[in-house]
Amino acid sequence: MGRVFNFGAGPSMMPLPVLEQAQRELLDYKGSGMSMLEISHRNKLFEEVNDQAQEHIKRLLGMDDSWVVMFMGGGASLQFSMVPMNFLTPGKVAAYAITSTFSEKAIKEAHKVGDAVEIYSSKATGLDRVPRPEELVLPDNCAYLHLTGNCTAEGLEYFEYPDTGDVPLIVDMSSDILSRPIDLERFSLIYNGAQKNIGPAGVTVVMARKDFLKGRDPQLPTMLNYETYADHDSTYNTPPVFGIYLVDLMSQWLLDQGGLEKVEQNNIAKARKVYDLLDTYPDFYRGHARKDSRSLMNVTFNLPTGDLEKKFVEEAGVHGLVGLKGHRSLGGIRASIYNAMPAEGVQALVDYMEEFYRKNR
Ligand SMILES: *Cc1c(COP(=O)(O)O)cnc(C)c1O
Repeated sequence: MGRVFNFGAGPSMMPLPVLEQAQRELLDYKGSGMSMLEISHRNKLFEEVNDQAQEHIKRLLGMDDSWVVMFMGGGASLQFSMVPMNFLTPGKVAAYAITSTFSEKAIKEAHKVGDAVEIYSSKATGLDRVPRPEELVLPDNCAYLHLTGNCTAEGLEYFEYPDTGDVPLIVDMSSDILSRPIDLERFSLIYNGAQKNIGPAGVTVVMARKDFLKGRDPQLPTMLNYETYADHDSTYNTPPVFGIYLVDLMSQWLLDQGGLEKVEQNNIAKARKVYDLLDTYPDFYRGHARKDSRSLMNVTFNLPTGDLEKKFVEEAGVHGLVGLKGHRSLGGIRASIYNAMPAEGVQALVDYMEEFYRKNR
């Protein structure tokens, strides 16, 4: 069939069984004679998909009915604006930790809305680590703390979140959502563009505590108010129907894997393989992230020269390993090894890296 191992950061690989099911159902969804691409969002068949996708995500993360799962458009980038528009009320200050180009984009939008402060930044050292909880000191009157849970471009990830007490914690988990269990207690709102870990481009998944969403400013534009989505089951207007259907299939696939404990074990084993190799040849494969912040999802590294990096990416393509070029802000190499990347893909990458080292050291 000629499929490659796609290490791209997003949109990214999806599991073959999910794609095959979508293919089987494409022309005639459950005997309706219609494709999910054609079905109305008011059709019972879509309502079932919508409910089921929410149910699957809640089950995977252990969310009870105090949580709501919402589907939107606009990507994670729209959340950069929606979060302050909804929660950065006058007289309050929003706190941001800068660990990624995506955190910088997020605070930029907050500045347009109200008072936002950078309470931590690893920019001086090239965005190479995330803070330990005790490094995050919140300002008075803090509206919320915003963190970039997995820094997709830089290859960093939080493994310990701070206990912010009464201050809501809002996290951009675009690239590590559903990759491992999380301690829900800590969070008020979690958002992610689905195209990294749990679906295709075009759908954004937002999970929030219902009581946190209550009481938004009624003057907010309707489509930028979280309550609109929570109150209308994400169908106030036409939602990204086909994207939600694929999120449903993908979350079912994660449940079939044995849930997030199992998924996490697989992800740890995959990431370890690549990081072990970086640590074996540290002068050649120069890891970007500090060891305590290494992401399980995106492994970032440089080679001794730009020419070697170019050659690395080109020759990898010949081996059926694609999408390895680093984020444009950072250069170098990035291997994204999300949930859908099979262990064989990682093994093929590691074998290629061994061979490339031997030929080019
Ligand atoms: C990809 C990504 C974004 C941007 O997502 P879009 O859906 O393209 O808007 C934001 N934050 C993180 C952490 C990401 O990985």
